[in-house]
Amino acid sequence: MSVRSGFVALAGRPNVGKSTLLNAIVGEKVAIVSNRPQTTRRAIRGIATADDYQLVIVDLPGVQRPRDPLTERMQRRMERELTESDVALFVLNGQQGVGPGDRFIAAAIRNAGVPAVIALNKADVLNRAQTAAALEAAASLDLDAEIFPVSALRGAGVGPLVAELVKHMPEGEYLYPPEERTDLSEQVQLAELIREQVLMRTREEIPHAVEVEIDEIEEREDGLLLVVARMWAETESQKGILIGARGRMVRDIGSAARREIEQLTGRRVHLDLSVRVRKGWRADEGLLDRLGID
Ligand code: GDP
Ligand code: MG
Repeated sequence: MSVRSGFVALAGRPNVGKSTLLNAIVGEKVAIVSNRPQTTRRAIRGIATADDYQLVIVDLPGVQRPRDPLTERMQRRMERELTESDVALFVLNGQQGVGPGDRFIAAAIRNAGVPAVIALNKADVLNRAQTAAALEAAASLDLDAEIFPVSALRGAGVGPLVAELVKHMPEGEYLYPPEERTDLSEQVQLAELIREQVLMRTREEIPHAVEVEIDEIEEREDGLLLVVARMWAETESQKGILIGARGRMVRDIGSAARREIEQLTGRRVHLDLSVRVRKGWRADEGLLDRLGID
């Protein structure tokens, strides 16, 4: 039986719902989601497989200032992924209409010469008139692309969108084993679940300043999964915030992340979570390599 398979580059401004849409298409939580911009640091591949297709969807990190080595890597990655993909899935926030950021991305897609499909997301919060206005705004981007209103949060409209993406895939074979949902290593996947809890519980500079590294994953004989992880902060004061009064913050992050890890792995988990300071980790190329950010 012939299979259509290939690469989909997810593009869109921060917070439009790219990671949520990726999870909805894949059917499993492979990318973490938050209402903080720049949640996604790594290019995460989610894999959606059916009998007759396999979509490998790349959730590209957003680009922000300041332009440090971390941001530079993310920008280069976006340009590369767009050119190397079979189709760009351009996600718009239906609530917000179309802005300069969207036009910038539309131009990048045109420059890359890659075909595009537009998802008009957050349709669940739009009435008819707003949907019509958003469709018109999307059409004004002047991309030769079909437009699909969807709610990534509720999974509405995802089927027809996927069918359109599949049309852009070349015929071939599965690129990944059909049971795989992501190309992230287990270590990075677990680190991301911990970072998601940091993003949900902290504000201002902390979300951008923190990275999580898994030191050890051990499957114990009694069935317990032991995970040793550390959070890297850039300053002592950030470290203090992450620890919290009487260790409350790190405990809350740890127990919420432990529940997420238990859900993902289907095992009982003991999470040993600590906080360390490393000044300038964002500029430490060796650490960025180890953290899987390329
Ligand atoms: P990204 O930065 O583009 O990857 O966006 P995320 O997937 O992290 O989502 C950003 C925020 O928008 C989160 O709070 C999501 O829960 C929310 N969101 C995503 N999709 C939808 C949707 O279809 N409807 C609504 N109402 N909210 C959504
Ligand atoms: Mg994201």
